[in-house]
Amino acid sequence: MKKSRYPIIVAPFLKVAGIALFPFILVSNKQLLEDEVLMRHETIHLKQEAELLVIPFYLLYALSYCINFVRYRNHSRAYEMIWFEREAYANEYNTDYLYKRKLYAWINYVK
Ligand SMILES: [Zn+2]
Repeated sequence: MKKSRYPIIVAPFLKVAGIALFPFILVSNKQLLEDEVLMRHETIHLKQEAELLVIPFYLLYALSYCINFVRYRNHSRAYEMIWFEREAYANEYNTDYLYKRKLYAWINYVK
């Protein structure tokens, strides 16, 4: 995989493996820098964030979670069904995805 275009920060205090905070990818340890699947997942989020001009991304992300929580009454299910997570999880193993992805592709995962 070619190197990420985005700066990566190793942040040992993170409670999750990785997180995308535009324009950075934060990972909880150095070994994860080699984790292509995680890097692809977080890079998909950075693209979503960029095309929504960042702040609206977080608002829609939270809105999607809330709708899902009302719908499923379950945190894990509400999280995995967030529109942006659905796109990222569906494509994190797809090595061409970042090259072929269309703008606003996450819209296909709204449901
Ligand atoms: Zn994610």
